Amino acid sequence: MTTCSRCQKARAVSYTTFEAYCETCSLDVALTLLSACRLSDKAIAALVTAGWDIPITTVRHYTATDIALELGVSAQKVGKTANAHGIKCEKYGEWRLDQAANSRKQIETFHYNDQGKRTIAKLIRGNDQ
Ligand SMILES: [Zn+2]
Repeated sequence: MTTCSRCQKARAVSYTTFEAYCETCSLDVALTLLSACRLSDKAIAALVTAGWDIPITTVRHYTATDIALELGVSAQKVGKTANAHGIKCEKYGEWRLDQAANSRKQIETFHYNDQGKRTIAKLIRGNDQ
Protein backbone atom coordinates (compact mmCIF):
# COMPACT_ATOMS: atom_id res chain seq x y z
CA MET A 1 0.00 0.00 0.00
CA THR A 2 1.12 3.53 -0.78
CA THR A 3 0.96 5.98 2.11
CA CYS A 4 -0.25 9.55 1.62
CA SER A 5 2.74 11.78 0.93
CA ARG A 6 1.01 14.74 2.61
CA CYS A 7 -0.15 13.45 6.01
CA GLN A 8 2.02 10.29 5.94
CA LYS A 9 -0.80 8.43 7.68
CA ALA A 10 -3.62 7.19 5.52
CA ARG A 11 -3.63 5.05 2.41
CA ALA A 12 -3.26 6.98 -0.81
CA VAL A 13 -6.21 6.91 -3.19
CA SER A 14 -5.17 9.51 -5.78
CA TYR A 15 -1.91 10.28 -7.49
CA THR A 16 -0.35 13.24 -9.22
CA THR A 17 3.02 13.18 -10.97
CA PHE A 18 4.86 13.84 -7.73
CA GLU A 19 2.45 13.11 -4.90
CA ALA A 20 0.11 10.45 -3.56
CA TYR A 21 -2.86 11.59 -1.49
CA CYS A 22 -5.28 9.90 0.86
CA GLU A 23 -8.98 10.71 0.54
CA THR A 24 -8.92 13.60 3.05
CA CYS A 25 -5.79 15.16 1.62
CA SER A 26 -7.11 14.79 -1.94
CA LEU A 27 -10.11 16.90 -1.01
CA ASP A 28 -7.97 19.45 0.82
CA VAL A 29 -5.64 19.82 -2.11
CA ALA A 30 -8.48 20.02 -4.62
CA LEU A 31 -10.22 22.73 -2.62
CA THR A 32 -6.99 24.66 -2.21
CA LEU A 33 -6.53 24.57 -5.97
CA LEU A 34 -10.12 25.66 -6.51
CA SER A 35 -9.76 28.54 -4.08
CA ALA A 36 -6.72 29.74 -5.99
CA CYS A 37 -8.97 30.14 -9.04
CA ARG A 38 -11.05 32.82 -7.33
CA LEU A 39 -14.35 31.06 -7.06
CA SER A 40 -17.45 32.97 -7.98
CA ASP A 41 -19.69 34.10 -5.14
CA LYS A 42 -22.19 31.41 -6.15
CA ALA A 43 -19.60 28.64 -6.03
CA ILE A 44 -18.44 29.81 -2.61
CA ALA A 45 -22.01 29.91 -1.34
CA ALA A 46 -22.53 26.37 -2.66
CA LEU A 47 -19.39 25.12 -0.91
CA VAL A 48 -20.38 26.80 2.34
CA THR A 49 -23.89 25.35 2.08
CA ALA A 50 -22.36 21.93 1.55
CA GLY A 51 -20.57 22.29 4.86
CA TRP A 52 -17.08 23.23 3.71
CA ASP A 53 -15.33 25.58 6.02
CA ILE A 54 -12.33 26.66 4.03
CA PRO A 55 -10.42 29.90 3.82
CA ILE A 56 -10.97 31.29 0.38
CA THR A 57 -9.04 34.11 -1.17
CA THR A 58 -11.55 35.97 -3.20
CA VAL A 59 -12.09 39.54 -4.19
CA ARG A 60 -15.53 41.07 -3.76
CA HIS A 61 -17.03 41.74 -7.16
CA TYR A 62 -20.01 43.72 -8.37
CA THR A 63 -22.12 43.44 -11.49
CA ALA A 64 -23.16 46.50 -13.47
CA THR A 65 -26.61 46.05 -11.90
CA ASP A 66 -25.16 46.11 -8.35
CA ILE A 67 -23.32 49.35 -9.07
CA ALA A 68 -26.28 50.86 -10.92
CA LEU A 69 -28.56 50.27 -7.93
CA GLU A 70 -26.07 51.89 -5.61
CA LEU A 71 -25.64 54.93 -7.83
CA GLY A 72 -29.30 55.23 -8.77
CA VAL A 73 -28.63 54.96 -12.50
CA SER A 74 -29.33 52.27 -15.10
CA ALA A 75 -27.08 49.25 -15.63
CA GLN A 76 -26.78 50.40 -19.25
CA LYS A 77 -25.27 53.68 -18.09
CA VAL A 78 -22.74 51.80 -15.97
CA GLY A 79 -21.83 49.59 -18.94
CA LYS A 80 -21.56 52.55 -21.32
CA THR A 81 -19.40 54.53 -18.91
CA ALA A 82 -17.16 51.51 -18.39
CA ASN A 83 -16.76 51.00 -22.13
CA ALA A 84 -16.12 54.69 -22.80
CA HIS A 85 -13.30 54.80 -20.25
CA GLY A 86 -11.78 51.38 -20.87
CA ILE A 87 -12.72 50.14 -17.41
CA LYS A 88 -13.43 46.58 -18.49
CA CYS A 89 -9.89 45.36 -17.99
CA GLU A 90 -8.04 43.22 -15.45
CA LYS A 91 -7.21 46.16 -13.19
CA TYR A 92 -10.88 46.88 -12.51
CA GLY A 93 -12.41 43.42 -12.45
CA GLU A 94 -12.81 40.23 -14.45
CA TRP A 95 -14.92 38.59 -17.11
CA ARG A 96 -17.09 35.70 -15.96
CA LEU A 97 -19.44 33.32 -17.67
CA ASP A 98 -22.96 33.84 -16.38
CA GLN A 99 -26.25 32.23 -17.14
CA ALA A 100 -28.36 34.52 -19.30
CA ALA A 101 -31.57 35.64 -17.61
CA ASN A 102 -34.03 34.44 -20.25
CA SER A 103 -32.30 31.54 -21.94
CA ARG A 104 -29.93 28.65 -21.35
CA LYS A 105 -27.17 30.55 -23.09
CA GLN A 106 -24.05 31.43 -21.17
CA ILE A 107 -22.98 35.01 -21.54
CA GLU A 108 -19.72 36.66 -20.60
CA THR A 109 -20.25 39.60 -18.30
CA PHE A 110 -17.80 41.89 -16.61
CA HIS A 111 -17.66 41.83 -12.81
CA TYR A 112 -16.15 44.94 -11.27
CA ASN A 113 -13.83 44.85 -8.27
CA ASP A 114 -13.76 47.59 -5.59
CA GLN A 115 -11.45 49.76 -7.62
CA GLY A 116 -13.64 49.34 -10.68
CA LYS A 117 -16.72 50.23 -8.68
CA ARG A 118 -15.10 53.33 -7.19
CA THR A 119 -13.87 54.47 -10.59
CA ILE A 120 -17.31 54.08 -12.15
CA ALA A 121 -18.88 55.96 -9.24
CA LYS A 122 -16.42 58.83 -9.70
CA LEU A 123 -17.05 59.00 -13.44
CA ILE A 124 -20.82 59.01 -13.05
CA ARG A 125 -21.14 61.26 -10.03
CA GLY A 126 -18.22 63.54 -10.80
CA ASN A 127 -15.06 64.01 -8.79
CA ASP A 128 -16.70 65.17 -5.58
CA GLN A 129 -16.75 61.64 -4.11
ZN1 LIG B 1 -3.28 12.32 3.71
